Amino acid sequence: MKILFVASEVSPFAKTGGLADVTGSLPRALKKKGHDVRIIMPLYQCVEEDDFTIRKVRKGVEITVNGEVRKGLLRQTSLDHIPVYLLENRDYFHRPELYGTPAGDYPDNSRRFGFFCRGVIELLKRMDFRPDVIHCHDWQTALIPVLLKYGHQEDPFYRKTALVYTIHNLAYQGVFEREALPDLGLDDSHFTIERLEFYNRINLMKGGILAADVVNTVSDTYCREIQTEEMGCGLEGVLRLRSHDLYGILNGIDYQEWNPATDPALFKKYTPSSLSGKAANKKGLQKALGLQQAADIPLLAMITRLSTQKGIDLLEKLLPRFARERLQLVILGTGDEKYMTMLKDFKETGAGNISIHLAFDTALSRRIYAGSDMFLMPSHYEPCGLGQLIALRYGSVPVVRKTGGLADTVFDRRDGVRDPNGFTFDDYTPEAFLEAITRALDAYRDRKSWDKMVRIGMHSDYSWEHSAAEYDALYEKALTKVVY
Ligand code: ADP
Repeated sequence: MKILFVASEVSPFAKTGGLADVTGSLPRALKKKGHDVRIIMPLYQCVEEDDFTIRKVRKGVEITVNGEVRKGLLRQTSLDHIPVYLLENRDYFHRPELYGTPAGDYPDNSRRFGFFCRGVIELLKRMDFRPDVIHCHDWQTALIPVLLKYGHQEDPFYRKTALVYTIHNLAYQGVFEREALPDLGLDDSHFTIERLEFYNRINLMKGGILAADVVNTVSDTYCREIQTEEMGCGLEGVLRLRSHDLYGILNGIDYQEWNPATDPALFKKYTPSSLSGKAANKKGLQKALGLQQAADIPLLAMITRLSTQKGIDLLEKLLPRFARERLQLVILGTGDEKYMTMLKDFKETGAGNISIHLAFDTALSRRIYAGSDMFLMPSHYEPCGLGQLIALRYGSVPVVRKTGGLADTVFDRRDGVRDPNGFTFDDYTPEAFLEAITRALDAYRDRKSWDKMVRIGMHSDYSWEHSAAEYDALYEKALTKVVY
């Protein structure tokens, strides 16, 4: 099968969150299954400035955006022999960030991603690659199913192409004022309730959900949750309309990339049978961060986008208490200004057992996963969550709120499971979060049973093998819907 991934971020080229991990690793798992997989994404400043080998391809497009002709040039790099096409337009993509600054989104995001989606559709026709499946991700690429379903019905090039749309986070829908229609290359005929109109504004995610042949999200629980009023972010009705074509497929992580036995960023490599190596990482991390070097003090960690979704307000309420307890806490995160300020202010109080890093730092994140005993994810909602999967792989026991993908991957003894791998709580309150942490801290004192739980986590399999097979089946389903 020929599969094209269209995404706004792909690891290791550009990443703000889990979407990049998925679009960077799922294609590799699908390639292993024998598919011809390719990826296309924008050529951002961060990609140009990194060490990637980027080739020029003598192809380009001209897209009219609001009456102005905008040029896009094609560049190419690769990811484990998978071709990765990069669409270049310096006005739109040569910027310090992908989507906006901490103060807010770039005001021309409708033009930037409208240009990208339309560029992809035009470019494919000039390339030697007619995909059987175009797999789009999140709002930034939702325009592709919309345009192909309604604008290219007669186009023989796309007639046999199936459209798969994956929702990685329903909260980011790509909502724009009606005036942005020309930014997207659309006229008023698309501004209807059956297509893009949603409460008198454009909603790209809604358009993608309705236009794609099949839709999925990234865990079974989140798939159920988003069809409810409480968690549907307003789109629950639209999703219920598509419920027969809506699936949940749990994300995996790349077990080669995230492997404590080979990770060069670590102070010492380790496996489930050599946990002393993990202890060496804890010591190394404590030293590097200026924390007291003591093996028996539990080291808790959080690596996260600083956004309301991630439960930062629960963390905020508990920080003063953590500062008084015999524990250590490392926080690595970037994101919303209000949380950056809150954490910067807290840092200035000088709590010696809490180490705060307001940055995006993958190497440090690896050392934290390896050096920590517990990994906190008190998310308000969580489509899948990769942090807890990486934490399990690195033997850091997750303490999570039981929602979305966290509920599908972290199992607590209180729920009657035989082999618990972490701790969960239900209510979105600091008290419930603290109660789960307290149970984890109590359990930590019994090192033998704690190490058992660490090993259960490290042995669990959240690699892509299983999920790639489910995507394979999803593509087959999508192809059966293509009528020609
Ligand atoms: P989301 O995609 O909602 O941000 P996920 O848990 O699905 O959350 O994925 C987050 C990914 O981003 C993980 O790989 C995590 O390690 C990484 N990450 C998040 N914040 C940082 C940071 N400040 N520095 C390095 N990596 C980070």
